[in-house]
Amino acid sequence: MLLFFILGLFVHFVFFGSIFDIYFTSPLVHGMTPQFTPLPPPAKRLVLFVADGLRADTLYELDENGNSRAPFIRNIIMHEGSWGLSHTRVPTESRPGHVALIAGFYEDVSAVAKGWKENPVEFDSLINESKYTWSWGSPDILTMFAKGAYGDHVFTYTYDADSEDFGAHDVTKLDTWVFDKVKEFFHAARNNQSLFSKLNEEKIVFFLHLLGIDTNGHAHRPSSREYKDNIKLVDAGMKEMVSILEHFYGNDGKTAFIFTSDHGMTDWGSHGAGHPSETLTPFVTWGAGIKYPQKVSAQKFDDAFLKEWRLESWKRQDIHQADIAPLMASLIGVPFPLNSVGILPVDYLNNTDLFKAESMFTNAIQILEQFKVKMTQKKEVTLPFLFIPFKLLPESKQLNIVRKARSYIKQRKYDEAKPSHLLSCSCIAIGVFVAFFLLLQDCPWTYYIYCLLPVPIWYAVLREFQVIQDFVTLLLTVPPSYFVGYLLVFILGIEILVLSFFYRYMLTAGLLAFAGWPFITQLWTRAKSISLSWIFFSLLLAAFPLMPVVGRKPDIFLVMGAGLLVLLLSLCVLTSLIKRKDSFINEELLLHLFQMLSVVLSMCVTYSTHSSLRKKQGLPLLNQIISWLILAFSLVLPLLSPTSLFERLFSILLSLMSTYILLSTGYEALFPLVLSCLMFVWIQVEQETLQQRGISCKQKVTSVRFTCSTDITQFRQLYLDDVRRAFFLVFFLVTAFFGTGNIASVNSFDLASVYCFLTVFSPFMMGALMMWKILIPFVLVMCAFEAVQLTTQLSSKSLFLMVLVISDIMALHFFFLVKDYGSWLDIGTSISHYVIVMSMTIVLVFLNGLAHLLTTKKLRLCGKPKSHLI
Ligand SMILES: [Zn+2]
Ligand SMILES: [Zn+2]
Repeated sequence: MLLFFILGLFVHFVFFGSIFDIYFTSPLVHGMTPQFTPLPPPAKRLVLFVADGLRADTLYELDENGNSRAPFIRNIIMHEGSWGLSHTRVPTESRPGHVALIAGFYEDVSAVAKGWKENPVEFDSLINESKYTWSWGSPDILTMFAKGAYGDHVFTYTYDADSEDFGAHDVTKLDTWVFDKVKEFFHAARNNQSLFSKLNEEKIVFFLHLLGIDTNGHAHRPSSREYKDNIKLVDAGMKEMVSILEHFYGNDGKTAFIFTSDHGMTDWGSHGAGHPSETLTPFVTWGAGIKYPQKVSAQKFDDAFLKEWRLESWKRQDIHQADIAPLMASLIGVPFPLNSVGILPVDYLNNTDLFKAESMFTNAIQILEQFKVKMTQKKEVTLPFLFIPFKLLPESKQLNIVRKARSYIKQRKYDEAKPSHLLSCSCIAIGVFVAFFLLLQDCPWTYYIYCLLPVPIWYAVLREFQVIQDFVTLLLTVPPSYFVGYLLVFILGIEILVLSFFYRYMLTAGLLAFAGWPFITQLWTRAKSISLSWIFFSLLLAAFPLMPVVGRKPDIFLVMGAGLLVLLLSLCVLTSLIKRKDSFINEELLLHLFQMLSVVLSMCVTYSTHSSLRKKQGLPLLNQIISWLILAFSLVLPLLSPTSLFERLFSILLSLMSTYILLSTGYEALFPLVLSCLMFVWIQVEQETLQQRGISCKQKVTSVRFTCSTDITQFRQLYLDDVRRAFFLVFFLVTAFFGTGNIASVNSFDLASVYCFLTVFSPFMMGALMMWKILIPFVLVMCAFEAVQLTTQLSSKSLFLMVLVISDIMALHFFFLVKDYGSWLDIGTSISHYVIVMSMTIVLVFLNGLAHLLTTKKLRLCGKPKSHLI
């Protein structure tokens, strides 16, 4: 049994880690041969302006007076170059945006596992392929491309990232700083012979990163005067830069210019997700090798932008962000960045058909190279008989296509050299290979675990063959129509659970269904009072998921109310116990009273602490000491109580409630109380349902005792009802977790709830206390479950196995919902869903142990040495 649990734990930890390998591993390959077009390029140098966080519409639209905010750019669109929208992909963040722009591939998602800042993998970029690159701007962006570049050919000029107040008052300084430095740079170049000769080389790049617009957008929103004025400033600055450059090179017509942005911005000043305001960015290009403006009478776009911007008659050509990289490479004649998946946008090029065809051919070969490397890697690490080349594109066929394209170029059939077929094939092939053989990619040790793990698992499963066989025989006895019905209900139940991770009110729906459950069984006719209390507490609990998450509305009087209810309840229990027992042992009575006292104490401490904090008098030392004492005693006191089922459970409830009250700030103090009331009824209900099946119960619930030793022979066979029991448990566990909070509230701890224990900031202690607060409802549910196992005479192993299966089905569900695209928030949330379900299974094992300990261990006081009763 223990071995089995350890194995199970290990499996869950491994699966937990696996998402990082499966979803967040780089698909990039290395070792391709650089590919470039063998014809002279149109430009000697390229200037790339990136206005960080600039939305397309704010740039292109006209202001209230019908004037453009960027007259220089508008003039270019109308008289000098080509324009369009650049479509970016999610996540719309600066780093992935610049990687797509300059390296030609969409951000490698493995970044998410590596802190999102550093380059997790090496990749090639336009800047690396250039002869020299000079760049000015934010250190966050520039160092990213300088770091991967080999040799001493990338020069970066950045302001200090640490001096935050650099642009605190006027963030346009981030832009004027860049413009001023470029001016100084070209001025100095006239008197610096070595720099002058470098500047006159071919294949050079100037990269101006302008962060002011993004910063203004975050601070003031894109509709603000500051954001719009910053656009004007950038426009004027670019005009000056272009004239300085043209003057420096004597208007030789060998400079190509590109202006775009890495991502847009929402109306409320954020970016990261996939809203059009974030993914639509401007793209304007002009100079050497770029087509002049084309006047057209009709355009193929059906959005309203062209009309809105009064640009209907200038041909708009949209582009994918990653296609900008091959465009820039082809303009200055450097190899396409090795990892680029961009497709050369030939419609922008003002060049001969031969040049276009050759460039497209190079582009296709370059992408095919990546596919070939990937395939060779696979071949090397896969056993020969397992290696199945992607059928659509065997090597002979690749050669054929390449040869055909070559001969078409020779025969000047340029149109047929279009690489779409080849491209889509190689893209699909890359995709299929990455997906199919991910398991063996590079073969890190973790992959071996994933491959070999099924062996011990199946071994373990087959060892439990008897349980499975029993269950299958049981299923066979059920009529097929019933079976399908049960299956549907089961699937529906699991779906409700999965949905409750996204919408808390799904739990309310589930609890309402629970409330109706006695009516469809015979329970209602047999045990009216139990059914009524079941319905009452289900409905009461159903109210909790509808309330706002913990910490939103602190209300100390609700906490006091919860305390009073606990006291009232314990008085009732006490009187009924005294009535039932003729000889009530003094020791037990004392314990009970002591626990009630601790509830009273915790109420007092909570009240006085909160009022003292409100008066800004800090946490009184006495309160702090009492709080810690209550916490310490809460784990010991239940062990002193008698092991008879209800007394022990009630003692656990009293102890945990006194701690929970200390940790509460509002209505959530009532939650464990209602939950445990429902749990008490649940135990009774399960006993009743068992009796309905005609199984004689040896004992009444009230006389059942928790015991350590379990007599195997008393276990009965599995019934379908046991699947329902397991499902109830999982549902109650999820309710225990989401009843008062949601995913977000787990991340953002409400510090007010630990003020009774400490007010000095100490992340570890606070985290531990918050964790215990989250775990208390779980412990209550697990203790009740322990009692259910006992009263229904079910082997804990088989019931627990079913619980694990249910939560694993859910985990599998979330595993496929894990996103490796979308905003960082989406990715993070999808991961935390998986993490929660996965850790639920792991935590469940420990909680099961804890509940077992709490319910069965018995300590003796009164001078006798502490010993276990059983
Ligand atoms: Zn940005
Ligand atoms: Zn930003």
